[in-house]
Amino acid sequence: MKTMTCSQMGGSCDAKITGSTPDEMMMNGMKHLEEAHPEMAADVKASSPTDPMMIAWGEKFKKDFDAAPEM
Ligand SMILES: [Zn+2]
Repeated sequence: MKTMTCSQMGGSCDAKITGSTPDEMMMNGMKHLEEAHPEMAADVKASSPTDPMMIAWGEKFKKDFDAAPEM
């Protein structure tokens, strides 16, 4: 299980997000967005996965996930 913060995932607070795989981390991050930053969640949902910004985000996320400490 790894831990990342909301701000590491592009959010605006320091809430801790956990997950043992990048998919799980992304899912938990999305859950947090919906609860804490609904307008950001709406933006993410409105973005296309082929949007260069989303692709860049995904690459950064994978690197940050690999670098995140194991709990
Ligand atoms: Zn947050």
